[in-house]
Amino acid sequence: MQKLTILGSTGSIGVSTLDVVRRHPERYRVLALCAHRQVDKLFEQCIEFQPRFAVVGDAELATRLRTRLAAAGCTTAVEHGPEALCRLASLPEVDAVMAAIVGAAGLEPTLAAVRAGKKVLLANKEALVMAGAVFIRAVAESGATLLPIDSEHNAIFQSLPADYRGDMAVSGVSGLLLTASGGPFRKTPVADLVAVTPDQACAHPKWSMGRKISVDSATMMNKGLEMIEARWLFNVPAENIQVVIHPQSVVHSLVQYVDGSVLAELGNPDMRTPIAHALAYPERIASGVAPLDLFAVAQLEFERPDFARFPCLALAYRALKAGGSAPATLNAANEVAVEAFLDGRIGFTEIAPLIATVLDALPAGEVTTLAEVLAADRAARELAGQIVAERASAGAAVIGVA
Ligand code: NAD
Ligand code: MG
Repeated sequence: MQKLTILGSTGSIGVSTLDVVRRHPERYRVLALCAHRQVDKLFEQCIEFQPRFAVVGDAELATRLRTRLAAAGCTTAVEHGPEALCRLASLPEVDAVMAAIVGAAGLEPTLAAVRAGKKVLLANKEALVMAGAVFIRAVAESGATLLPIDSEHNAIFQSLPADYRGDMAVSGVSGLLLTASGGPFRKTPVADLVAVTPDQACAHPKWSMGRKISVDSATMMNKGLEMIEARWLFNVPAENIQVVIHPQSVVHSLVQYVDGSVLAELGNPDMRTPIAHALAYPERIASGVAPLDLFAVAQLEFERPDFARFPCLALAYRALKAGGSAPATLNAANEVAVEAFLDGRIGFTEIAPLIATVLDALPAGEVTTLAEVLAADRAARELAGQIVAERASAGAAVIGVA
């Protein structure tokens, strides 16, 4: 019986994780469920899974949840705040932690799980993008097992040799092909992107996901973040990672070998496949995902990415090449920009220029500690926030809000 802590249980990945767990009660027991503000959803999850602990964002929400659970006869202990997340991610009795908080807020609890040597199922790509070197060093020092949940990285993991230890040459790997759906605006005339609304940006053609990653997919910053994620997970440099637009989202990514072989993982676009793979690894369990029907798919298309249409992808390449604090700066500026876009404070086409301005203003410095990563994150967040506020006070038109 594996005991689980689920960080971000009320989100898209959290809910899919619980769906897989629900199918295998003899294998998994949920020890802690952690969410932020969605008390109603967390209440229902606690009633169903009866975890020992639950975490919410603040004391007031904790009181609300505690009262409701007590009235329902549920004995789950309710805690709140970032320290509680770190504590429950590193409890001695926890075997595996699903890291599915969105954004930089997930870094410290995910790192706490890594430092405690847990099996860490990593959905929270922002944590690795921000703190790559610190994170991977912590994995090596603690002996934690890091399993990728991001579908592309899970596909690459499955397509690499089982004994791959981060040395391309030793394993005969010549490169990675990272597939991308191209998002909802792959064919939209570039001139029309200025009027895109948050709901249009979040209407992903293939994947159902949280709003932040949906906007990232629409700008293709998601693929940029995934390139940086791949660099750290597999120790492959940027020049050996090719982004490939693949609108059907059936080939989840590929590994090229020096002998000309190309191995891939295929499946329906449903996150329960990588979640089930990582939960059971190295075994296999049912996920609830329907078998892939190649006759229904019929055609697989592949295109080169268009950097003019997707400037965020070029910004991510730039940050990856610059190294040091640049990916943390990129990630923080992107989080502020996406939030401002979702709130209607900036337009869709202002996201990339805002990130570029922050990257220009804050040169990449060396980062070897978590404190330095967090300082870079804070500086970029402050500057990006200032730029958004200045635009608002200058009376900049609010673009693209329905
Ligand atoms: P989501 O917005 O649906 O859910 C986010 C979860 O994080 C929620 O449970 C929320 O309560 C929690 N959360 C948010 N802020 C928090 C905070 N400050 N403290 C504690 N908890 C907080 O997001 P999602 O789509 O499930 O994505 C989660 C992560 O997984 C992201 O990093 C995303 O990039 C990655 N990911 C998601 C998918 C997908 O299909 N949804 C695919 C690949 C990777
Ligand atoms: Mg992905």
